[in-house]
Amino acid sequence: MSTIGTVNGGISFWYAQDGAPAPREPLPGDATADVCIVGGGYTGLWTAYYLKKAVPFLNITVLEAAFCGYGASGRNGGWLYNGIAGRDRYAKQHGHEAAVRLQHAMNDTVTEVVDVCAAEGIDAGIHRGGVLEVATSPAQLARLKDFHAVEIAFGEKDRELYGARETARRIRVTGAAGSSWTPHGARLHPVKLVKGLAAAVEALGVTIHESTPVTEIRPKHAVTPYGTVRAPYVLRCTEGFTASLAGQRRTWLPMNSSMIATEPLTDAQWESIGWDGLETLGDMAHAYMYAQRTADGRIALGGRGVPYRYGSKTDNDGRTQPRTVEALREILIRFFPQLAGVGIAHAWSGVLGVPRDWCATVTLDRSTGLGWAGGYVGSGVATANLAARTLRDLVQQDSGQAGPTELTTLPWVDHRVRKWEPEPLRWLGVQTMYAAFRGADRRESTARTAETDRIAILANRLSGR
Ligand SMILES: Cc1cc2nc3c(=O)[nH]c(=O)nc-3n(C[C@H](O)[C@H](O)[C@H](O)COP(=O)(O)OP(=O)(O)OC[C@H]3O[C@@H](n4cnc5c(N)ncnc54)[C@H](O)[C@@H]3O)c2cc1C
Repeated sequence: MSTIGTVNGGISFWYAQDGAPAPREPLPGDATADVCIVGGGYTGLWTAYYLKKAVPFLNITVLEAAFCGYGASGRNGGWLYNGIAGRDRYAKQHGHEAAVRLQHAMNDTVTEVVDVCAAEGIDAGIHRGGVLEVATSPAQLARLKDFHAVEIAFGEKDRELYGARETARRIRVTGAAGSSWTPHGARLHPVKLVKGLAAAVEALGVTIHESTPVTEIRPKHAVTPYGTVRAPYVLRCTEGFTASLAGQRRTWLPMNSSMIATEPLTDAQWESIGWDGLETLGDMAHAYMYAQRTADGRIALGGRGVPYRYGSKTDNDGRTQPRTVEALREILIRFFPQLAGVGIAHAWSGVLGVPRDWCATVTLDRSTGLGWAGGYVGSGVATANLAARTLRDLVQQDSGQAGPTELTTLPWVDHRVRKWEPEPLRWLGVQTMYAAFRGADRRESTARTAETDRIAILANRLSGR
């Protein structure tokens, strides 16, 4: 195995494979719109899609700093799944039933994305094989069983728990003692989805301006170096990049996530691994991994790497520290030792938005017309779609075109939380937390006890996760 010849950065492997998109014109000067959407990732594009579908005469403008899919939407692991950050906290705040409704909405969202892609002719390489989460130590197995029981309590009656032998029938991960599988998940090609979505939105008549960074959002205004878009509704869909906007530096912490993609594996290698169901694959480590079997027979695998850059900085077009590439490669080999000689074709990184209480939210401030959605904490591929349909309903409700809907009454709507601490506390806190997680994972991997490492429990409590 070697990382010599590994492409590093270049946004992501998905772009290297599918090609860079043709650029769209920047904003030519001052303009007006009914709705101005800032950010051309899944959240912004799905919001434009659903609003335009609901009210075809709406004049909608999307302003994108780089190009549609430049952010996490063009870099992610392609897990379209039903996880939503903050559900358990929302259950505590709004009651169990409200959180069950949220979970059901997420389950339906996976189907919604699959259905809309089919209806719009977006070939995003979707395979609906569900999500398989494996445990590779006694402590992980104990957490897996707890996790499985909790998910069932939130209404996932169709989830299945497997022992070591049943797990190996699906996928042969070294040391896997058990796994939990849900049908509410699919593997997809992130860039094919975001490119297809941008094209679908444009075909509906939405205006997209690229290479147009918004420097400030204020009520009814999105300010850019080329002019200002005035609109009754301005929706901020910038997720992990939110800190770069005036006044938002400590709103959502830009957490880093990094990935590698192998060269295509041989038939014999696939034979030794199994994974014929093409489930997305994760584990129960504190600094967890996530992976997919790609449509062209590679493994794309991600994890935390260097978690956070001082001062809420984002990465340089996905460039990734060599030690992170090495750490991900080690996970790959630990899971599948027979891949020790396989080359790593590509490594890249991206940022995701983390609110101080780790709870995703979608909000429309009725007094200002400012809206936002995000803070998905790494579970945004499906959640962005639910957020977008909710923003549509909130805008329609606010403009008197409709009343409250099932979506506008979900517990994550209009959730507010305090900001992150100033530096250097922010940086120190995140570094300490992930150092604690990595240490806990190391100790748990050799321990015989099923107890979760105490340092990890403490780190979770202190971080507010
Ligand atoms: C490496 C990685 C792996 C991931 N894997 C998964 C996964 O497998 N499953 C899952 O559910 N989630 C995953 N996520 C998270 C998921 O990709 C994101 O939650 C989701 O894509 C967020 O979409 P978004 O549109 O809100 O944000 P983004 O896709 O980040 O889009 C924000 C857009 O706003 C633009 N922008 C930023 N600032 C400005 C500005 N000032 N003016 C104008 N435009 C601006 C950016 O250029 C960007 O295009 C992953 C994230 C990363 C980084």
